[in-house]
Amino acid sequence: MDATQISSELTKVLYTNDQIQERLTELAAQIDEKYRGKDLLLIGVLNGAVMVMADLSRHLATHLQMDWMAISSYGSGTQSSGVVRILKDLNTDIEGRHVLVVEDIIDTGLTLAYLIQNLNSRKPASLEIMTMFRKPDALSSPVDVAYVGFDLPNEFVVGYGLDYAGRYRNLTDVGTLAPHVYS
Ligand code: 5GP
Ligand code: MG
Ligand code: MG
Repeated sequence: MDATQISSELTKVLYTNDQIQERLTELAAQIDEKYRGKDLLLIGVLNGAVMVMADLSRHLATHLQMDWMAISSYGSGTQSSGVVRILKDLNTDIEGRHVLVVEDIIDTGLTLAYLIQNLNSRKPASLEIMTMFRKPDALSSPVDVAYVGFDLPNEFVVGYGLDYAGRYRNLTDVGTLAPHVYS
């Protein structure tokens, strides 16, 4: 879907799909370099990371498998609750595996801190994080993120997998939602 179709609900486009794909190509080259000769397990965090998983994985040349987790943090609002629940666990045993967590966006980092602690307890051979977007507060989170697509301003964004109340995930560009939509 083109952003112009619902442009009255977006105040501005921050990153176009072309910019996102170009950045993913660069990150994929770094990831291929890092995991050369290894078997990689990508773990996508549902639902937001669906788009970045689909695109990043197709830019990679490394042999890989994919698995998915669903965890809740925000519900349908725009504030992190700090309460994290596993809604769907992995199908794969990650012990001894090289794992790369694929995230859509890191805001407070609360969700990710919980997830990393949980995954580390399963004894992977290695564990790294890739996120398409990162917000300013994430910089004060103790969690180390190896691959970052773009740093965003501290605004609520939608598109490229990111939702508001379950909508807007199918926008190919990423932009800010006009306040009147959710206030
Ligand atoms: P954190 O725990 O890092 O504060 O929040 C991470 C999760 O909150 C993301 O996976 C995403 O679901 C949601 N989130 C954080 N910031 C945004 C945003 O700007 N837009 C949307 N749509 N979701 C966000
Ligand atoms: Mg996420
Ligand atoms: Mg959401």
